Amino acid sequence: MPDIDEKRLVDLFETLVNVPSVVAYYPEIDKKLEKIFARMGYDVTYDHKHTLYVKVPGADHSKTICFGAHLDTIGMIVRHVEPNGWIEVRTLGGVNFHSLEGENVYIHTRSGKTYTGMVIHKSHSVHVFDDAREAPRDIETMRILLDEDVQSAQDVYDLGIDHGDLISVDPKCVVTPAGFIKSRHIDDKACVAALIEAMRLLKEEGITPAYNTWFAFPIYEEIGHGGAYVPDVVDEYIALDIGLIGPHYHGTEKSVCIGAADNFSPYDWELTTRLYDLAKAYGINACLDVYYRFGSDATSALRAGHDLKAAVYGMGCMNSHGYERTHIDAIKGTCALTLAYLMNEA
Ligand SMILES: [Zn+2]
Repeated sequence: MPDIDEKRLVDLFETLVNVPSVVAYYPEIDKKLEKIFARMGYDVTYDHKHTLYVKVPGADHSKTICFGAHLDTIGMIVRHVEPNGWIEVRTLGGVNFHSLEGENVYIHTRSGKTYTGMVIHKSHSVHVFDDAREAPRDIETMRILLDEDVQSAQDVYDLGIDHGDLISVDPKCVVTPAGFIKSRHIDDKACVAALIEAMRLLKEEGITPAYNTWFAFPIYEEIGHGGAYVPDVVDEYIALDIGLIGPHYHGTEKSVCIGAADNFSPYDWELTTRLYDLAKAYGINACLDVYYRFGSDATSALRAGHDLKAAVYGMGCMNSHGYERTHIDAIKGTCALTLAYLMNEA
């Protein structure tokens, strides 16, 4: 097993998490990945849904493995501007507004400009509104306050902001001396980092994967259809996605969580068993769990009718879809399990 450089892995995560890539917003993250892969000596291709692929020939061409880590993050989309210039939104993915209130956001316009703003509640100040604490937090009550001198809806539209502009959330990434990583979008940028670091080590160590291997980076997972299209050549789709932590789970912020089942289906018995056995063989801290309110690109591929074996694993993640936290050990473990699989595919 090649040595995984912790610092390089964390730096890569920080780089990736600071590139906005809210659901469907691919221009900036695609450019970044193209640069990263060009430096590593990998060619990239896209399908029409803008899933980015890197295809690596294996020692044996009899089957094709696809590892997928989604680039998209939860966020919002502009749906209307109120007469006072406040922006109304719809959510993209499982947003929890209780966690978003007060956060800084970026509004990406079609002309390529980005504006900043913050998430507020209509009853924004405890000094003014009786219901500031108790009022529900949802799309009817939450607004975006632009950091621009705007007094009316027309002022906002005149900036070039329009219905359908995409809104990403400040990741606020903090790495602590004890190895904890706090950031929005650990889901799924930590998995993207683990996967890319594994790809870099393949090149550096001159490892040929056992079988033809595709690395896929979809941009629609959070709304359920990132993996709905998978090229026919793929026999196994392994989604790298966060693991869950809670009272009925073995998962922790230090473990690699292998999903045995999610809200749609059990994952493939043989493939999941093989991953778990590999983790044990390589001394990787891993566990199996049954996920509740969770789906992955691997199960969206199954839902769409693809004939493939599906599996999912990734770092345990606290506060999922909020201000998330994990530990470097689990990101390293996710990278290590990926390498173990690439070298040992049965
Ligand atoms: Zn995810």
